[in-house]
Amino acid sequence: MSAASFMRQKGAALACIALLSSPAFANVPLRERLIERANAALAQLPKRADVEVDAIRLVDANVDGRAVTLTFSEAVLDLVPGSVDYERAMRRVHVVLNDELRDALPSIEYETRIGEYSLGEWLSALEPGSAPKALTTPPVPAGARSVSGRRIAVSPGHGWYLDGTWKLQRSYYFGIVEDFINFDLIQLLQQRLLSDGAWVRPTRNMDKAAGNGESGNPKWQEAARYHIKALGVPASVWDSSTSDLNDDIRSRPLYANWIDGNGQNAEILISIHNNGGGGTGTETLYDTNNGFGAESKRLADAVHGRIINAIRAQYNAAWPDRRVQGFAGDYGENRLATRPAILIELAFMDRKSPDNDALQDPAFRELVVQAIKQGVADFFGGLQTDAVAPTPPTAVSAKAAGKGAVVLSWSGATDNVGVTGYRVERDGVVVGTAAGSGYVDFFAPANTPITYRIAARDAAGNWSTPSVVTSVFLASRIGRVPAEDSAPMTHSAAASPGARSTTASR
Ligand SMILES: [Zn+2]
Repeated sequence: MSAASFMRQKGAALACIALLSSPAFANVPLRERLIERANAALAQLPKRADVEVDAIRLVDANVDGRAVTLTFSEAVLDLVPGSVDYERAMRRVHVVLNDELRDALPSIEYETRIGEYSLGEWLSALEPGSAPKALTTPPVPAGARSVSGRRIAVSPGHGWYLDGTWKLQRSYYFGIVEDFINFDLIQLLQQRLLSDGAWVRPTRNMDKAAGNGESGNPKWQEAARYHIKALGVPASVWDSSTSDLNDDIRSRPLYANWIDGNGQNAEILISIHNNGGGGTGTETLYDTNNGFGAESKRLADAVHGRIINAIRAQYNAAWPDRRVQGFAGDYGENRLATRPAILIELAFMDRKSPDNDALQDPAFRELVVQAIKQGVADFFGGLQTDAVAPTPPTAVSAKAAGKGAVVLSWSGATDNVGVTGYRVERDGVVVGTAAGSGYVDFFAPANTPITYRIAARDAAGNWSTPSVVTSVFLASRIGRVPAEDSAPMTHSAAASPGARSTTASR
């Protein structure tokens, strides 16, 4: 039974259990544009005898914030999710949809559905037991913003592979081919990381003097699968599917998971690729659904931001930012990694200017690898590149309490990464800070109306706008507790203010 027919049977079984409601569409014109552009791209897929290519369609698209849900026809299953064929088809779709989405969204998270089920459900049917496992050696805690001592796997993808005859995985454009340009970039990155004290493990042979491999071509030109095999790594890493091409794409993250140096394995995987399909600019991909989504996004944000800033500042101020994009299983090089992993699509091979010209420029390559190294250092240093401020606290409560204090509590502030603290303003002046959602002001003036408002911050130092103002009146600094405040207070912060607040600093 083919994988696709197996999955269709599985789908039929699942269909008896659950029916999914169809989502509502907030923006019908955008939805229609996405569907139209995706299907125009899918219509360009090469025709094949074994796949009903014309039936492969995007049937629905929904944009909700930065969540983009794409629903494809079941004919996509003939391409076999997880395979190179599937990934190449998805790359065509995601590249053209980026033209519609990138200006509206600071980052994008895709969810793929095929028929009634999510891609994750199809993949778990295809690869039972393939759920990600925990890192065998946890990452080193955040420290200095440095790559020194860090354990980094790097992948250039592609290279010679066997499919009847030995072939490259990509086509030449304007005299260069991705199989080798990615190698050049990863080799340069490896050198810069090593010179700063990192522990680096490339998925391909980085030694141009290593002679020829089993393909008869130089070892440095061969795909990861053959390098990893030659290293003596178990076949489960480099021979995990039914074709060398699919083995190869799987071998890169599986090797990053497997490699072991002095009892430690790679903390992160960085892959460098270059795009095709008629776009321009840089995008960085991560997986949302492999158990490392949050940290992968943090890595992607750190590295991508550094790359865009460096290119625009030092090379081309108009270089397009195609955004950080999360995918729930579409790209195996990230999906199969059991550690934070990102895939940088640096430029478009098939766009002469500015993309391909840039890739041929040594100055461009150098500034890009320096930017990647800085972004990796930012990630390990715990530096947040988050530029989104929290929402203001709500439900701010101020109550006069015994011995002339005011007990404050609040809730409701949210942040895309996380709220890390608050400031308390009395009559518009900052009187203290709090780590949690409560504060006691021991120095509030009596016998005059006073107002409080609270602002929230995140780890990157972005402040929310202040909350709405709450008023309170302290009858006396030293006196009995007013009757309305003598009842037990139910809010946890008010009931135990000492544990939830800091003393005002003056
Ligand atoms: Zn590639």
